[in-house]
Amino acid sequence: MPTLFEKIISGELPATIVFRDERVTAFLDIHPAAPVHILIVPNKAIATVNDIADSDEALVGHLFIVARDLARQYGIAAEGYRLIINCNSHGGQEVYHLHMHLLGGRPLGPMLQRL
Ligand code: AMP
Repeated sequence: MPTLFEKIISGELPATIVFRDERVTAFLDIHPAAPVHILIVPNKAIATVNDIADSDEALVGHLFIVARDLARQYGIAAEGYRLIINCNSHGGQEVYHLHMHLLGGRPLGPMLQRL
């Protein structure tokens, strides 16, 4: 079964795509948690961070390069932003296709409530 994000990458499901190249697609999160909330997704289906292969090293690095460029493009680079990758149930992952959240445009507060 293709994941939701595979369907977005293939064009089967609509999304507001803000960047695409041969390795990565980036689109607006449908339920934004900040004024800028973009999901940066490898075109290749990798379920979770646990499933990243050593040979994916350059692809994973590319996610950061795309995040850096989108942060500049959306005017949030100087004031700052947060990159989040959730993994599995304790990490709060909902879609099992690796993705990086790029969040910014307001102060985001503490990363997590402390114990
Ligand atoms: P995660 O909890 O890290 O797996 O994040 C999944 C994200 O995908 C959530 O922030 C959702 O709002 C977002 N999402 C779910 N469905 C769609 C969709 N059709 N288009 C864009 N974003 C989506």
